[in-house]
Amino acid sequence: MSAAETDAGLGDTSALTRKILIGLVGGMALGVALNLFAADSSVGTFLVEGVFYVVGQIFLASLKLIVVPLVLVSLACGTAALEDVAKLGRIGGKTLGLYLLTTALAISLALIAAIIVGPGEGFDLASQSTGFAANAAPGLAQTLIEIFPDNPFRAMAEGRMLQVIVFAVLLGVAMTLAGEPGRDLLRVFESANAVIMKLVFVLMQIAPYGIFCLIAKVFAEQGPDVFEQLLKYFLTVLGVLIIHATVTYPTLLVLFARVAPMPFFRKLRAPMSVAFSTASSGATLPVTLRTVEERLGVEPSIGSFTVPLGATINMDGTAIMQGVATVFIAQAYGVEIGPSGYLTVVLTATLASIGTAGVPGVGTVMLAMVLRQMDLPIEGIGLILGVDRLLDMTRTAVNITGDAAVSCVVARSEGKLDLETFRAR
Ligand code: ASP
Repeated sequence: MSAAETDAGLGDTSALTRKILIGLVGGMALGVALNLFAADSSVGTFLVEGVFYVVGQIFLASLKLIVVPLVLVSLACGTAALEDVAKLGRIGGKTLGLYLLTTALAISLALIAAIIVGPGEGFDLASQSTGFAANAAPGLAQTLIEIFPDNPFRAMAEGRMLQVIVFAVLLGVAMTLAGEPGRDLLRVFESANAVIMKLVFVLMQIAPYGIFCLIAKVFAEQGPDVFEQLLKYFLTVLGVLIIHATVTYPTLLVLFARVAPMPFFRKLRAPMSVAFSTASSGATLPVTLRTVEERLGVEPSIGSFTVPLGATINMDGTAIMQGVATVFIAQAYGVEIGPSGYLTVVLTATLASIGTAGVPGVGTVMLAMVLRQMDLPIEGIGLILGVDRLLDMTRTAVNITGDAAVSCVVARSEGKLDLETFRAR
């Protein structure tokens, strides 16, 4: 039994997961009921705009509250625990390679499905305007420069995760190199890490209620009418997300981590529910990290590196949406893409998903980058926004599943996956 499961008075982990799932399903049911029967009533408005909004935002704030300190402290400890810069390079290389590979696979699946289904056929928009105006996506040079922090406090205050990750890794390396003072500081960080992980656990107790409110609000606000024209697009994205999660990741786990996928998915139910209701990989990070380390048995020296990095750059679900959306928009505007065009989509959507921040809706903003590269009308994004919220929620759940799967594979390859914990109930 892990430490988390014996937290007296706060309930065990499986009871919490059960409550989270009840919150998820209950929120959906109430949201749909409100949408159907109380859309414009004062009680409906009071609940949706008042109670659900307030509780949902408080839950989101409680998650975001711990992200920066958690990443800083756990990653610095993790890096210091590796005790060897070469090892760090090797793990970094494997992690990045797997993140890129799974993302490229995800887009390829998305393109194949979109070509077969043809979600944009039947639209004839060549001469119409959707009224959508995209913001300019940042250039590659600026994006590269901005990975490196010039002020760690600003990076933390502004929540720039890649910069925080770079700073934490450097700090961890320096702690290893500094000898005795380094070890003293490491002990402080390790204590802070244990306390912050406990804080994650404490804050998770409000997750069922937070999830209930976030989900109820979304379903109360999204009527069935938005799906009418976009049903094919919606179902294509959803279908590929489900295939990627239930085929690609289990295959990865079986082939490269040599573990059965069932315990993986059972334990991932809680972080997936949080990701689904918050539509933010960043906000879900504390829960993902805790699950990966404490329930899947990935050693912190690996998990503290792979999970925050994944939450920031590994977005398979987002890439899937971007792939299908590009084909959809091309078809809707009657533009041929062609084989070399599809290759360009794979490359640019991989980059666009890396550049997507783990917050709600950014995937559609970054889609502009792919469309611009393909010379497709950027205002086509306006077409898909109606159904984006639900897809955003689902793709975020896939995004964090990818982070967890790759973490298990990397840990296993380094002999740092505790199989007993992985298999435990
Ligand atoms: N909401 C997604 C995430 O946080 C990003 C996106 O696709 O918009 O993972």
